[in-house]
Amino acid sequence: MDLSALGNDIERVVVSEEQIQNRLKELAAQVNKDYEGRDLILVGVLKGAIMAMADFSRHLQRHVDMDWMAVSSYGAGTKSSGVVRILKDLDSDILGREVLIVEDILDTGLTLSWLTENLLSRGAKSVSVLTVLRKPDAATVKVEAKYVGFDIPSEFVVGYGLDFNQKYRNLPFIGVLAKHLYS
Ligand code: 5GP
Repeated sequence: MDLSALGNDIERVVVSEEQIQNRLKELAAQVNKDYEGRDLILVGVLKGAIMAMADFSRHLQRHVDMDWMAVSSYGAGTKSSGVVRILKDLDSDILGREVLIVEDILDTGLTLSWLTENLLSRGAKSVSVLTVLRKPDAATVKVEAKYVGFDIPSEFVVGYGLDFNQKYRNLPFIGVLAKHLYS
């Protein structure tokens, strides 16, 4: 779905389709190098990371296991609730495995710090994080994303897996949602 089909729903494009793809390719090259000769399992966080998992994993030049978790930290609005719940757990046992969490966005970091701790407590050998986007608030929490696509301003964005009330996930770019739609 492109801008012309969206009316005035998108205030502006923050990261274009081309920028996303180029950056994911760069991050995949880095991951290829960092995990050379090592085990690797990607854990995608549903539903926001679907696009990033699909594109990033295809840029990797190696075998990789892929699994998914669904957690909830946001309700139907645009504010973080701070409550993390597992809606769908992993199918795999990650005891002794090297895990790379693939996330759409790091905002307050609540979700990722909780998830990292949770996976480590299951005996993972290592847990690292790849996030497509990072907002400024992420600097105030203790979550280190080893692989970051883009640093963006603190605005509510949609597209490339990110939704507003389950819409806009299928945009190939990331944009700021027009305020009139939620304020
Ligand atoms: P955190 O726990 O880091 O505050 O939030 C992480 C989750 O909140 C993300 O996985 C995402 O689902 C949601 N989130 C945070 N910021 C945004 C945003 O700008 N747009 C959308 N659509 N979701 C967001």
